[in-house]
Amino acid sequence: MPFYSYDDVLRVSKLIQEIPCEVSEELRGWNWNTPPLLPVHNIQLNVSDLSFSCETGRLAFLRYRMGHREQVNEKLNFGSFIHRAISLTTSTAKSILYNSVPRSGAEFYEMMLAKMENVAVVLDLNNDNYVKAFKALWKRAALTYSSSLDRLLELSKYLSIDGLVSRVVPWICEFPIDGRLLGLGRAVRIDALVPPSLIIEFKTRKPNRSSEIALAAYALIFESLYKIPVNHAVIIYVDFDFDVSSFKTYERIVKIDDPLRLEFVEKRDLYASKATLDLDPGLPGTCDVYCPYLSVCRDGS
Ligand code: SF4
Repeated sequence: MPFYSYDDVLRVSKLIQEIPCEVSEELRGWNWNTPPLLPVHNIQLNVSDLSFSCETGRLAFLRYRMGHREQVNEKLNFGSFIHRAISLTTSTAKSILYNSVPRSGAEFYEMMLAKMENVAVVLDLNNDNYVKAFKALWKRAALTYSSSLDRLLELSKYLSIDGLVSRVVPWICEFPIDGRLLGLGRAVRIDALVPPSLIIEFKTRKPNRSSEIALAAYALIFESLYKIPVNHAVIIYVDFDFDVSSFKTYERIVKIDDPLRLEFVEKRDLYASKATLDLDPGLPGTCDVYCPYLSVCRDGS
């Protein structure tokens, strides 16, 4: 990990089967047009805003009512770079499989490494830590997918290219979904989707409830569009070591159950109300250390 092989998909599917999750019918995404899911304010929120804990909803007031621009701090910047790197690595792996048709895992691995320097140059990384993190992820992807390719080629040499690619790289990164039925943005992107309905998010922040609320938002949007139940989703935490040259990953399967769905509704409605009223809701007792408005509300502290 973080790059899933087909075996990882089967492993996670089995784990999910062993975690029961009851969901009330009125909290299914396809019931977006009745309370409590029905949006009551005329605004479309970013799902990413829900991943920050701001108990008074000032974040929404600042962004949508006051038009304040966020100040992306270094922790957030690094996190968004890691998302970009995973997505780019995934699409490059698929592109090599489609266009160069490597005949073995070793050949694929060499092709991936040959691309690494070029892509690092294109990204114009001027921070050593970003270069190290990028290369660590890239090499991990090359290893994961080369071994998947070998296993698949042992199975059969006569697979169609499309079938082969979907088994070697089983997810789609930055899968777009339209959240407007639920009062969310029209161009929401799921970090990774394994068809038909396994939703995966990557996090470099510490585990927290707000990340799970945002995950519930993705699941509800998915249900609202495809009418497929999503009872579980996955967060993969990517934790880089001190000198950023290696990392560990932790996988958490999250139940998208009634309490989490109701927390989503509560937070969405709080943020939407603060985004549409002229009244400053003030500061909460504590602020999210990753909040992009710390420099506005807390003078950068
Ligand atoms: S800094 Fe605090 S009050 Fe301001 S938006 Fe962030 S969490 Fe809310």
